[in-house]
This record gives sequence, C-alpha cells and structure tokens, in this order.
Amino acid sequence: MQTMKEENRGYDNYIDGRFVPPCDGGRFVSFNPATGREWGSFAESTAADIDAAVSAARRALSGPWGDLSATRRGRLLMAWGEKIASNAERIARLESAQNGKLLAEMHAQANIVREWLYYYGGLADKIEGRVIPLERKSVLNYTLREPLGVVGVIVPWNSPTFLTVMSCAPALAAGNTVVLKPSEVTSASAFELMKCAEEAGIPPGVINVVTGGRAAGEALVDHPDVAKISFTGSDAAGRAIAARAGARLASCALELGGKSPNIVFEDAAIDNAVAGLLSGIFAAAGQTCIAGSRAYIHQSIYDQVLDRLVQRARSIKLGDPLAPDTQMGPAATRAQLRKNEAMVADSVAHGAEVLSGGRRAAVAGLEEGYFFEPTILHRVGDDNPLIHQEVFGPVLAVMPFSDEDDVVAKANATKFGLAAGVWTKDLRRAHTMAQRLQAGTVWVNTYRALAFNAPFGGYKDSGIGRVNGVEAIDQFLQTKCVWCELSDEIQDPFVLKV
Ligand code: NAD
Repeated sequence: MQTMKEENRGYDNYIDGRFVPPCDGGRFVSFNPATGREWGSFAESTAADIDAAVSAARRALSGPWGDLSATRRGRLLMAWGEKIASNAERIARLESAQNGKLLAEMHAQANIVREWLYYYGGLADKIEGRVIPLERKSVLNYTLREPLGVVGVIVPWNSPTFLTVMSCAPALAAGNTVVLKPSEVTSASAFELMKCAEEAGIPPGVINVVTGGRAAGEALVDHPDVAKISFTGSDAAGRAIAARAGARLASCALELGGKSPNIVFEDAAIDNAVAGLLSGIFAAAGQTCIAGSRAYIHQSIYDQVLDRLVQRARSIKLGDPLAPDTQMGPAATRAQLRKNEAMVADSVAHGAEVLSGGRRAAVAGLEEGYFFEPTILHRVGDDNPLIHQEVFGPVLAVMPFSDEDDVVAKANATKFGLAAGVWTKDLRRAHTMAQRLQAGTVWVNTYRALAFNAPFGGYKDSGIGRVNGVEAIDQFLQTKCVWCELSDEIQDPFVLKV
C-alpha cells in the first residue's frame, strides 16, 4: 500500500486501492480537541472526486467483488475484522486525537468491530431466496436476493470505526460495494481501515474513502449511481439527506439522534440505577446517540437519587483522553462546546436550575481544550428546550414522576425514539414499560448495551431502518421474483380455449 504523508498528517482520498489527491486540490484541517491545535489535513472532495470513487465502486461490483462466491466474500470480511482488531491501538489513538473521546473507549470499539465482521461475514452465504407455491403448479416461482449496487455510507465523528463497520459490514456481506464519507472531524481512522481491508485481501474499489464535509456528503447523495445512502448523524442532516435522495428515488437508512429517557422506579436497585444514569449521560462526555439525557426519578426517591447523582458528577475526573485515569474527555469540537453552553443557558432561561457543572472546565496543561463540566439540571419543565432538543454533550435533565402513566406520557413526549432505560425489580412493570415506551431499544436494569446480533435503530425522528442483527442485511438487498413456466402449454391470450 502506498504510504500516507504521515510526517505532516496530510491524507488524500482512497479510491480503487490508491491514494488520490482531490481533483481541484482543496483541503481542510482537523483539530485535536484536547489541545485545540491543528491535527492534520484532508482532501476537500468535490463532485468529481465522488464520481471517481463511485466509478471505482461500480467496476468492483461487476468485477472482482461480484465474481466472488458469497462464502469467499464472507471470509474476506472476517479477515478484515482480524486486521482491524490487531491494529486497534493505532486506530484508537487516531480517533482519540481527533474526537477527544477516551482512548479506552475507542480501543474497545476498534477491537469489537471484529465481532460485527465475523457475524456479517458468516451471514454472507446465508442470504437465501424462497420458492413460492403458486396456484398454477406448472410454474416454478422463486425469489433471488440481490445486492443494490453502490452504497454511500456517511458517518459522524463520535464513534468513527464502530459506526463505519456497522453500516459497511452488512452492505458488503450482501454483495454491495461502498463509497465511505467519514466525518470531517474524524477522517483519519478510515484510512487505517482501508489499509486493513487491503491486507485482508479485499479487492481494490470495494470500499473507497472520500473526505470532506456537508458538500461532499451532498455530492454522494446526489450521485445517480449510488443506490442507497446509509447515514448516521443528526436528525437535521438525516432529514436533508432523505429529501435529496427522495428527489431521485434512492433509498436511505437513517440512524439519527435521540433524547432518551432513563427511568428509575421506587423499587429499583438504587446503586445500579445511579451507575446506569451516570454512564448513560457522562460516558463519552454525552457524545453518544443513546445518551440517557432525561432522567425520570420516582418522586418518593427523587431527593436521595438526585443528591447521589450530583455528588458523583462533581467527582468525575476530566483530563487528557489518552491518560488511563481520565474519566471524561473534552467535547469533540469548539462548535459542540459552544452548543453545550448555549443549551444550558437556554434551559436556565426557561426556568431550569443548574445543580452541578454548567460551564467550561479548566484542565491543567490543556487550557485550550474544549472541556465542559458534567452538568445536571432540575426543575426542567415539560416545555423546556432541554426536554426536546439533543445536546450531544454531558448535560442531564432530572425530573420527578408520580406513576407509570405519568412517566410513560413524559418519556414519549419528544420527537425522538432511539432508546429508553427502565430501572425496576418488578417483572410485570418491566415488560409493560418495554411495550409502552416508543423507542427502538429498551434496556431494563442496564443501559448503553449493544450487540452485533441485536437489532438497533430509531422510532419516530430517530431514524429509518435498523443496524445490527439479521434486519441490517435486509436493508442492503433487493428481491427479484422469477416465474418459470415448466409446461409446454401455450398461454396465448388471443386463442380462446373451449
Ligand atoms: P452531522 O449530522 O452533523 O454529520 C454526520 C455526517 O453527515 C458527517 O460526515 C457530515 O459531514 C455529513 N453531513 C452533514 N450534513 C449533511 C448533508 N446535508 N448532506 C450530506 N452529508 C451531510 O452529525 P455529527 O455532528 O457528526 O454527529 C452527531 C449526531 O449523530 C448526533 O445527532 C447523534 O445522535 C447522531 N448519531 C446517531 C447514531 C445512531 O446510531 N442513531 C450514532 C451516532 C451518532
């Protein structure tokens, strides 16, 4: 593989197995959020670069990738997973330096994507059609499940490798090829994934990387040879992408934002619930789509749980995401830091009260970093913007509730429906709540759990489609129905049978 210009961290696009400079020479820079300093530069791709990448993906589709048996395709995905896992440390360091999330979390993600590639690699040769027993017995009627073609994958910055593999693994297992546009905040690790793919023996052109921001994403969505867009990101961008794709009748899978309720009943194991509330919002500095950003606590235990939450939040250690004892890193971008500040101020202006945090944090030695204190607000009314808008930062709104009906109404009263947590020892209540909550995932007595074989996705404005599990592979297939007349009988509509 051609080496990248690592001495000055300048990355070109990766198209057809080669590094290619952007057609018009445009570049952008990314920043290290822990230091606030420039980190590296990347190709600012235009429609011409996207076209080159899509053309390469099309050639691979009808060439080396399309020619492979499903079993062999699956084996290559598994080999890719092995390579990624053995380079997890390097991938994690690149990601942590770009999004400021803890090295330990990025490492765990880069390591665990092997499980996803094993699962979908194994599913590749289990994609089967059906034989349909028609009324007319002389017809053999069956279905073929075929790939869609070139899939455009657009991902955000919070979990770059994890979310890239979540979309690419099922898309590739189904026989498609991919053009990936990583986030402009965290583009570097995508090139490590390409290096791993190449070493695993995945043919050139099967996965291509074009970098850039919104304009590059739009060019990918608009390209007439992209059959489907698999998008993970904000609901605002998802809405814009679905509208653009809809204009040319291309389909979309959308994994969008959330405002997930984390509900604690009076009979819950309080220690576990407090740990679940804290990790639900402060792990990853709240920069996770499944952040449990609304805590509903039963009124009989409200004060004691709130006290414990505030005490624990105040003791969270902020610092360098690469240091093993750091518990929370910075916001990934200056813009996200400003959003955290602005949303807390707006919530207070609407009557909420800050109990802990609420401001930028100073970290010794990293004075220019984008650190924000773990923040808890209470007295947050039902109409407060903090109930309805995603912060994507370490900001928790805590509210009391009286009974099941009350909390179900409150929990469901947002446009989002990604996830929900319920803490209770009552079996009947646990399952009743699971049925009544409008969310694609409901966790009972746990939070923030994901698995390669457990489907994940949003209700309402949190998305369309599912990642993970068998459901995900269906998103990247189309069904062809074949009618085969086996008798010699001529069916001529103009010859009258008597
Ligand atoms: P974002 O929507 O701003 O950007 C995501 C990606 O889309 C980036 O690569 C960006 O360049 C591109 N993009 C932005 N606007 C576009 C447009 N109009 N057309 C084409 N491409 C466009 O999101 P972000 O700030 O990078 O990530 C945070 C968001 O992602 C949060 O809302 C979070 O909840 C969501 N998210 C969802 C999931 C999930 O699985 N549901 C997982 C992680 C993050």
